[in-house]
Amino acid sequence: MPKEQTTKKTNDIKKGEISIHTENIFPIIKKWLYSDHEIFLRELASNAFDATTKLQKLAALEDIKDLKEPNINIIIDEKKKTITFADTGLGMDAEEVEKYITQIAFSGAEEFVQKIKENDSKDKSEIIGHFGLGFYSSFMVADLVEINSKSYKKDAEAIFWSCTGSTDYTIKKSDKKEIGTDIILHINDENKEYLNETKIKDLVKKYTNFLPINIQVNGVTANEKNPLWIKTPKDVKEEDYKEFYQKLFPYNGDPLFWIHLNVDYPFNLQGILYFPKVMHELDSNKGQVKLFCKQVFVSDNANAIIPEFLTLLQGAIDCPDIPLNVSRSYLQNDPYVQKISKHIIKKVADKLNDLAKKDKNHFESIWNDISPFIKYGMMQNDDFYTKVKDIIIFESSLGYKTSIPEYLERNKEKIKDKVIYCSDKDGQATYVNMCKDQDVEVLFTHALIDTHFLQFLESKDSTTKYCSVDSELSDLLVDENKKTEVVDQDNKTNNDKLADIFKKALNNDKIKVDIKALKSTTISGMILESEHVKRMKNMSHFMQDKGTGIFDDFTLVVNNNNELVKDLMALNTSSEKEPLVTKLCHHIYDLAKMSKQPLTGEETQSFINRSNELMKELTTAKTK
Ligand code: ADP
Ligand code: MG
Repeated sequence: MPKEQTTKKTNDIKKGEISIHTENIFPIIKKWLYSDHEIFLRELASNAFDATTKLQKLAALEDIKDLKEPNINIIIDEKKKTITFADTGLGMDAEEVEKYITQIAFSGAEEFVQKIKENDSKDKSEIIGHFGLGFYSSFMVADLVEINSKSYKKDAEAIFWSCTGSTDYTIKKSDKKEIGTDIILHINDENKEYLNETKIKDLVKKYTNFLPINIQVNGVTANEKNPLWIKTPKDVKEEDYKEFYQKLFPYNGDPLFWIHLNVDYPFNLQGILYFPKVMHELDSNKGQVKLFCKQVFVSDNANAIIPEFLTLLQGAIDCPDIPLNVSRSYLQNDPYVQKISKHIIKKVADKLNDLAKKDKNHFESIWNDISPFIKYGMMQNDDFYTKVKDIIIFESSLGYKTSIPEYLERNKEKIKDKVIYCSDKDGQATYVNMCKDQDVEVLFTHALIDTHFLQFLESKDSTTKYCSVDSELSDLLVDENKKTEVVDQDNKTNNDKLADIFKKALNNDKIKVDIKALKSTTISGMILESEHVKRMKNMSHFMQDKGTGIFDDFTLVVNNNNELVKDLMALNTSSEKEPLVTKLCHHIYDLAKMSKQPLTGEETQSFINRSNELMKELTTAKTK
């Protein structure tokens, strides 16, 4: 649509009117950007910064008189109700003000209005700066905006522009002597909160803390200037990273480690990602990576750019080329953003691999803090899984901190393609000890987190199986020599007979009995659960077995290498000893249960009663 602009010349004063074919821009700016009034500061400070940068570049090419240090001074006058942004930038002459402030801005405005109509985006504050509308954000807080500017150009006349938030404006001569621009906002009543030094200082800190220029509030510097991320990583010391972290997140302890991102090809990306000390709570830290655009703060979270599982990290990234004038969901599907996202994942994975290899002690010391995040990340993102799968570590019963490949390698002669794990050090102590006696390595896992994680690992690599130490009896624990069994005239082996004795004594068809010759002779019996039931239990930690019976699926393994069990066979031949045999079977069963978990009240009671009876029988036999 063509834009018309009319200017009438009356003496030195020009009056102009901009006719745009859409509605009046000002009510729209005020209405749509209502919640984001404060961004006027970001926009005006960025413009002032741009102006000083341009002047510096020009000064390198031509001789400019009275060149001043780049500076922005924000002056608050509570009486006059004005905020002035005074810069030492390149300035504008009358022609430029008309061209850049009126024409260009309004053409941007039209596009902006169109975009706003099309999509009720929540990211309006991001949109405004990217439609060449930044300057007009000042009308969100001011009823009258003036520009007092003197261009760096030789013999340029200083000008004074003034606009009341309608489409009318005036330009006249000004007596400004120094090169640069003052933008004077006459703050309206609804926004008088901004006529406050502390408020403005806070906003300078929030939005322009890292702009590499002195930004003063009433003559006093209020920003930090240089952000660490623009430096070359090799020039930055460890203390610098920690100090910078404190600036970004003042009340946090030291970070565990960090990643300095510094890319300029094929896309532009700078930043530092910190791994905070506390990472257990998977979502409590969300939204801690701040997004900057050319060192100007854009938003408190860079969630659109960094993969979900990495939003737990803290830090800052600066992404100058990112299209901010589109919605987040669109961003996430943008191939450019995906490239950035992939790059960040790769960098994080590289850093972790680096730590695991070069600084093993440090890596092991922070492992407990970072492992939930890493495991979660692996389950979320396949690229990440592939890159870090070999560095995840578990503590083992043999005292190692070991990765899965290392474990498999170390144990390949003994337990092929199998990982034996223990998810409950106390409850499974007997089993772990039995394995220890036979030099079988057991990995310690976390019942809640790792049950899902191990399942996930199996789905990724089906050649390796994960077996709970109390769900499967490794062949290593069984005495191979005693495996062959002789069958008697009833077509039954001794083991069959022993199993029958137990079944009869326990009188419960739910209990499966399996006779094994364990290498460990001290154990009379043990309970084995199926891996499936085991995992169900771990996953539904708080779920009760409300009579469903799904958790009843277990086997009582009786060790025929144990002397007591052997005696039981001998005793059983005499029918008068049957009551004793029954008691002993129950006792062995109870002991097996107890090594896993406490007995119920009723079970404890009968265990105590039976113990007393057995002890009495023992003394009676001895005193006879
Ligand atoms: P953008 O910054 O995206 O170009 P703005 O509406 O913020 O859009 O500014 C429009 C133009 O006005 C700028 O491109 C610049 O040419 C000019 N301008 C704004 N503020 C200043 C300033 N303080 N000094 C010099 N020129 C300025
Ligand atoms: Mg701008």
